[in-house]
Amino acid sequence: MWLIGAHVSIAGEISQSFDRAKALNCTAFQIFTRNPRGWASKKLDEKDILNFHKKFGETGLFPIAHMPYLPNLASPNREIYDKSVKILSEELTKCHILKIQYLVTHLGSHMGTSEEEGIRRVANACNIALKSSEGNTVLLLENTAGQKNSVGHTFNHLRKCLDLIEDRSRVGVCFDTCHGFAAGYDIRTHDAVENLLKDFDKIIGIERLKVIHVNDSKGALNSHLDRHEHIGRGQIGLNGFKALMSFKQVQKLPLIIETPYDSEKDYMHDIEILWSIAREQF
Ligand code: ZN
Ligand code: MN
Ligand code: MN
Repeated sequence: MWLIGAHVSIAGEISQSFDRAKALNCTAFQIFTRNPRGWASKKLDEKDILNFHKKFGETGLFPIAHMPYLPNLASPNREIYDKSVKILSEELTKCHILKIQYLVTHLGSHMGTSEEEGIRRVANACNIALKSSEGNTVLLLENTAGQKNSVGHTFNHLRKCLDLIEDRSRVGVCFDTCHGFAAGYDIRTHDAVENLLKDFDKIIGIERLKVIHVNDSKGALNSHLDRHEHIGRGQIGLNGFKALMSFKQVQKLPLIIETPYDSEKDYMHDIEILWSIAREQF
């Protein structure tokens, strides 16, 4: 069964994310477990948790969580760093309580120090958070577009960071196609995708790839621009996504769109495109 889905809102109550995902014809979905643009977080109460579990059981959808945007696990600023580690630990525990298997995080910005130091700080943050959180939620490091000072835009960065994380059973990778393309990984043809997966396997190990963020890219190959576009309307193009979804290693993974939310219709259309590609496979 294909796991195809979208990033959906948790507005109202967190369990409503299941309804939104179902309405979009998703079999998987992604949520923020707290306000993505603030530091504060509302505590989950018993009712929120029970309703989430109930809808989880009823729908059988596959939920994934994404860290909020403010934390920076690569920050050289002690105060920001400590706050970020604390949030990572809290979110890992929250995922455990909600029975969410994966938490996706960006590696952050080294703020002009160095990639080397940034990677070391991210790994240290992961080690502390994994140890101090409850349960066994798997933390997924997401590749970035390679914007100024960002950490994690090459497979080598991800590998270095994973090597420094002590509990290997609790880490993996989320590959974002828009970020990857902007960072210089071509995805436009069958051969390009084959090379990409080979590279990933050689450097990181394909078994570490757990989720794919399926986004087209407004920016060109190697532009380092993090601008998502609707599927087939960007620089990657429909053929790229057809190529990607023709590989066995990709077909069993949750494929989550984070395309621009211009209208419900555009969003649904992106999901429908992925389903139509999926139906062409055999
Ligand atoms: Zn992300
Ligand atoms: Mn992403
Ligand atoms: Mn992005």
